[in-house]
Order: sequence, then structure tokens, then C-alpha cells
Amino acid sequence: MAEETRAVEEIVYADCVLCQEPTEYPETVKGATLCPVCEWQEAQRMACSG
Ligand SMILES: [Zn+2]
Repeated sequence: MAEETRAVEEIVYADCVLCQEPTEYPETVKGATLCPVCEWQEAQRMACSG
């Protein structure tokens, strides 16, 4: 029952959970992934809600 580990030549990037644009994060990253734009917007939102 050995799992074959393929050599990953192509990194599959996860899609942004908000706009479905490709992110800078690989699919293997857990949790919600945001593209740079949405990440920035979220940061702004967080900064404003205080
Ligand atoms: Zn996005």
C-alpha cells in the first residue's frame, strides 16, 4: 500500500475563493486561498473594521 509520490513538475495553484482567479498558493494549501487582489482587499476591510 505504498503511495506513489509523483514528481511535481507543474504546480497547480488554487483558485481564489472570492473571484476564482489563480492565486500564488498551491492547491495543497489548506484553508481559503485568496488572490493578491482579494487578499489586499480583505486586509483593507480588516483594517477598516475597527
Ligand atoms: Zn480573488
